[in-house]
Amino acid sequence: MSAASKEPVRYERQGPVAVVTLDRPEYRNAQNSAMTYALDRAFYRAADDDEVRVVVLAGAGKHFSAGHDIGTPDRDAHLPFERTASLWWDHSDKAGAESRYARESEVYLGMCRRWRELPKPMIASVQGACVAGGLMLAWVCDLIVASDDAFFADPVVRMGIPGVEYFAHPWVMPPRIAKEFLFTGDRMPAQRAYEVGMVNRVVPRAELAEQSLALAARIAEMPRMGLALTKRAVNQAEDLQGMHTGMDSVFGLHHLAHAHNAETAADSLGGITIGSLKEAAAQKAVQ
Ligand code: ZN
Repeated sequence: MSAASKEPVRYERQGPVAVVTLDRPEYRNAQNSAMTYALDRAFYRAADDDEVRVVVLAGAGKHFSAGHDIGTPDRDAHLPFERTASLWWDHSDKAGAESRYARESEVYLGMCRRWRELPKPMIASVQGACVAGGLMLAWVCDLIVASDDAFFADPVVRMGIPGVEYFAHPWVMPPRIAKEFLFTGDRMPAQRAYEVGMVNRVVPRAELAEQSLALAARIAEMPRMGLALTKRAVNQAEDLQGMHTGMDSVFGLHHLAHAHNAETAADSLGGITIGSLKEAAAQKAVQ
């Protein structure tokens, strides 16, 4: 099997815990559509398996996820995939805002919402970079265990865009902290993320997998229906605090930004590439 056709997500079961692992470590687990649909199949499998009580979402290698794939050889944003999160039509033969809106409604907002509703507890096990699209994967999980080397960042304001597509920022951290996080694009270290309530635990890097599994195993002792209803209860409370409708409204702003970029800059990302994001981060580091 060539590297390009390798399954981008691994699925393993350890007792009552399904461990779903992002498996493109050579690209810091950048999320292309192939990975999105592989994740969806893995979550469906975990939901469908009565033996599975809890899901752990992890990333292979040094980093949890560097975000959406905007520059690897397997970037596939232009390709059609069978839609499962929404009934939006195929984006790949459409133009402009229609194409972007149809695609992102399905693969970003739609998928994240679908995964958030998986009726079993999900724990994100995060090390290294958890950037932009990576945040969405961690945030749809119910709990986050971070290693002490983990950091979180959403630098897409540099593209003129008000945050990633799944705009949970002011619900997963206080609004003033969310503004600082977005305005600066700075890395938020795991310890700071813990202090503002965005992660549940910070553990040594060497113990991340073990401690994530231990927490999952403990939760797995609770009754399935009790867990499912409790998850639903807290998710409903978040939505009553405006999360669902807030995200819908910001999704419109997000697409206004993409359209503005497409009209005035090199492309809908404002001409920003992985290279220029890295350069900006490097410049900041020497200041
Ligand atoms: Zn977008």
